[in-house]
Amino acid sequence: MEKRNVYLDYSATTPVKDEVLEKMIPYFTQNFGNPSSLYTIGQESKQAIAEAREQVAALIGAEPREIFFTSSGTEADNWAVIEGAESRLKRGNHVISSKIEHHALLHSLEYLEKRGYSVTRLDVDGDGFVSPDALESAITDRTTLISVMYANNEIGTIQPIAEIAGIAKRHGILFHTDAVQALGNLRIDVRALGVDMLSVSAHKIYGPKGIGALYVRKGVLLPSHMHGGAQENKKRAGTENLAGIVGFGKAAELAMRDLDAHVERVGALRDYFVGRVREAIPDVRINGSLERRLPGNANITFEYIEGEALLLLLDLDGISVSTGSACSSASLTPSHVLTALGVPVEMIHGSLRFTIGDFTAKEDIDYTVESLVKNVEKLRSISSVSREKGWHANGDVQ
Ligand SMILES: *Cc1c(COP(=O)(O)O)cnc(C)c1O
Repeated sequence: MEKRNVYLDYSATTPVKDEVLEKMIPYFTQNFGNPSSLYTIGQESKQAIAEAREQVAALIGAEPREIFFTSSGTEADNWAVIEGAESRLKRGNHVISSKIEHHALLHSLEYLEKRGYSVTRLDVDGDGFVSPDALESAITDRTTLISVMYANNEIGTIQPIAEIAGIAKRHGILFHTDAVQALGNLRIDVRALGVDMLSVSAHKIYGPKGIGALYVRKGVLLPSHMHGGAQENKKRAGTENLAGIVGFGKAAELAMRDLDAHVERVGALRDYFVGRVREAIPDVRINGSLERRLPGNANITFEYIEGEALLLLLDLDGISVSTGSACSSASLTPSHVLTALGVPVEMIHGSLRFTIGDFTAKEDIDYTVESLVKNVEKLRSISSVSREKGWHANGDVQ
C-alpha cells in the first residue's frame, strides 16, 4: 500500500479553490481600501462587496439586501437565535429547536436558558428526522422562535424545512434554519422554503474561513448584535472582511454553477465507498437515513472497536476523518447527534464520519477502504470484546 494523503473531512472544512484564492489576493494588497471610505479605492472595495452579496444571494434565491455578512456560521446562528428571541420577549420566552443542532445553535440555546427562556429540544427518529407533527404540538402561545437545521453536520440528514417553516408561519412564529451544511449541496431557495432567517458559511463551500452570512427576509425584525459603524446596512458593525467576502462570493458563484455535477459526482463516490465498506468489513452500520442525506456524508459504526483508535491508525496512513463534529473531537462525550438517534453508547464510540468532496478521487476511496480493512481487523483482534470471542460490545455473551 503506497502511502497517500487522503482528506475525508469536508464537513469540517474545505480547501479554498484556486479561482477563489486568485480573486481574493488583490483585496489584501492593491485593492485594500476601506469600503466605508469615500475616495476611489474605498468605493472599489464597496463595489466588490456588493458583487459578492449578489453572488451569495443568488445561491440561495435571496435579494442582495437580505444578506448580512458575519464572521462565521457560528456568529450567524448566535445572532439569529439570541436577538430573534430577545427582541420578541414581550410576546413570550419559549423557543423550539432540535436535539441534533450544531453546537453554535445548542450553546446559544443554553445561553438563552440561563437568561430565563424555556427551550424545547425536539427528538429525532432513528433515521435522524424531526417530526413536523411533534414540532407543531410543542408550540405554545409563548413560542416566539423555532430553529431547526437544514442538513446535519454529523450524519448529513436533510430536514423537511419547507414543511416546518410552513408550520411556524401559520402560528406567526419566527423561523430560522442553519443551512451551513446544506449550502452548495442542495438547491436552496429561501422563498420556496419560506424561512425567515438562514445561516451560511464560506469555508464549507471551498471559500475562506472566518466569513459567513445570515439571510434575514426583508420585513423581519432582527436587531443588530454588534454595535459600532454603519456597515451591513447598520445591522452588523465592524469593518468588513473584504477579501473574505470577495472569496465567499466567488465560492458561491462556483457552487451555483457546479451544483448538479458536484452532487452527482460526490454522491456516486459516497455510494461507492459505503458499498465497498459494507462488502469488505463485517459488522458495520450506517448511521442516519441514506435517503434525504447530503451527497458526501457517510457516518459509519465499526462494531467492537474504538473510533478514536481507528481514527489515529487511519491518520498514520495519511487519511483524515472525524469522530463526529470537529467541535467535539477533543472531548470523549458521545456525539449528541448519534445519542439522539438512539445509537447505543458503545456503538457511538465505534463511529467515524467520512465526508467526501470535490477533490476526492476514486483512488482515495480505494486506499481508504484498504486501510480500513487492515486497521479494523487489527483493532478487533486486540479487542477484548471482539466478535471472534463471541462477546458483544455490551458485554453480554451471545
Ligand atoms: C461548520 C458549521 C457551523 C459553524 O460555521 P463556522 O463558520 O465554522 O463558524 C454551524 N453549523 C453547522 C451545521 C456547521 O456545519
